[in-house]
Amino acid sequence: MSTGELLGVRGLVAGYGAVPVLHTVDLSVPPRTIAAVVGANGAGKTTLLRAVSGLLPPTAGRIVLDGTDLRGTRVEQLVRRGVAHVPEGRGVVGELTVDENLRLGGLWRRDRADAARALDEVYQLFAPLARRRRHLGHQLSGGERQMLALGRALVGRPRLLLLDEPSLGLAPRVVAQIMALLRQLRDDTGLTVLLVEQNVRSALSVADQGVVMALGRIVASGPAAGLRDDDHLRHAYLGF
Ligand code: ATP
Repeated sequence: MSTGELLGVRGLVAGYGAVPVLHTVDLSVPPRTIAAVVGANGAGKTTLLRAVSGLLPPTAGRIVLDGTDLRGTRVEQLVRRGVAHVPEGRGVVGELTVDENLRLGGLWRRDRADAARALDEVYQLFAPLARRRRHLGHQLSGGERQMLALGRALVGRPRLLLLDEPSLGLAPRVVAQIMALLRQLRDDTGLTVLLVEQNVRSALSVADQGVVMALGRIVASGPAAGLRDDDHLRHAYLGF
């Protein structure tokens, strides 16, 4: 059944130990949408992504993917359902080659032929990775490592990509390339992206939907362009 929603978050409460960080978060992201989650340091953006990716079990509330309640679903099962998480810090394995890192992203797939096709597509998308196939992860630049982390997620052909701070430490030109790529993937493959970004302006420029968080709550959401041009929101929460 199509609900017009790929990801639904309802009344989500989550935190670390006894300390709640997210307080009753509600969110709905349609398929084929880039949703940017923005807000000050400590607002709970990373915690939201970790809860959606199954790393952090919610204390209360529900997460729904394409109409299915994900309660009790293990991280590996979530990956099989098409949820890919690229965490802040990127998680590239420094001792493995670029090629080995990318293949990790498709190891779980039964359709080996399509996993091989997806790997080829990633090499076509990211020419620097194709040139450095045999290089070790730790030999790459920051931008290349970000490409590798993103590429590894894409080898799994996700439906929902959870992307935490992809612009961190990267040159503006590389950030622009990554943002353009997200739009291309949305248009070509129907990918849905939940994008956490400190770089509010570029995130709201690339996104369809914007979500503003403060102190563990969503304080505004709607079309990204509207949020970007809202003087009150900009001054109160977005700092530009
Ligand atoms: P940032 O951009 O700084 O990462 P954020 O909006 O992503 O900010 P979170 O990282 O989700 O915010 O952090 C929200 C709150 O949870 C903060 O108060 C933070 O100190 C706390 N927190 C984050 N990770 C942990 C953890 N592993 N254990 C305990 N508290 C944590």
